[in-house]
Amino acid sequence: MEGSVQTEQALLEEVRALRDKVAELEQREAAQREENHRIDEFLGLLSHELRTPLTTINGNIQIAKRRLHYLLPDETPATGAHEKLDMLHELLSRAERQVRIQNRMVGDLLDVSRIHHTQIELHAQIVDLLELVRDTVYEIQQATPERELHLEVPDVPEILVGVDAERISQVMSNFVSNAFKYSPTNQPVFVCLEIQKDDAMISIEDRGVGVPAQEQQTIWQRFYQVAGVKTFNGSSIGLGLGLYINKNIIEQHGGGVGVKSTPNQGSTFWFRLPII
Ligand code: ADP
Repeated sequence: MEGSVQTEQALLEEVRALRDKVAELEQREAAQREENHRIDEFLGLLSHELRTPLTTINGNIQIAKRRLHYLLPDETPATGAHEKLDMLHELLSRAERQVRIQNRMVGDLLDVSRIHHTQIELHAQIVDLLELVRDTVYEIQQATPERELHLEVPDVPEILVGVDAERISQVMSNFVSNAFKYSPTNQPVFVCLEIQKDDAMISIEDRGVGVPAQEQQTIWQRFYQVAGVKTFNGSSIGLGLGLYINKNIIEQHGGGVGVKSTPNQGSTFWFRLPII
């Protein structure tokens, strides 16, 4: 009799201890959620604040470049003054490139806070993916003429998808700029558009550092970066947000993303979108 009372008491104590543990875990989870919420709010605010001066800096660079253009008429014979003006033009162009990079980082921060708060707002329309991919690759090639970029597309008149064209362009640019960043500058990058059953599949292949197998899942998390990886093109590593944003955008379109990679040989990042 005494034994069964003792067992009952021990069980009750165990249940109480478990309940306390659950309550503690719930409290910790709520605190974590609150913390995440505050971080997202802070990121949203920070990116807005950072973007405003960047817009002004960019505007001033554009004005300065235009004024300089008038001081540098084509027919002027090259003089010492001309060379100095040329150098000023080059310095302004460099500043312009850096502002573009920073603008992109700020845009990424803003997107991340949007993903956590609501979702990125999509303005989906029926779009010819063939044209969108061609235009995006053309724009990237214009901005980085020093890199070899190849495009392969299927022999069909059009591929219709319901997407936010700007966002899909952003996803492609992110993947291609990573391919440029993490592969030697003398190596080419290949963009390939294919039709696979009901999906359009876009892959971006590089011959760079690759991603170790154990990191291929984690690189899609926000702020995650593979330790010890260096960039080849002199640009800063970034914030570890591009892949996270890409995954979110593509999944919101009902598609999927992935990577196949062999360390020191290269990577193929891909995303697919449902065809209409
Ligand atoms: P970021 O490039 O700003 O660090 P991303 O989210 O775009 O952020 O990428 C996360 C990480 O995934 C990178 O830091 C890098 O370690 C790895 N990674 C992304 N793309 C490639 C690639 N093409 N080749 C090798 N590693 C890559």
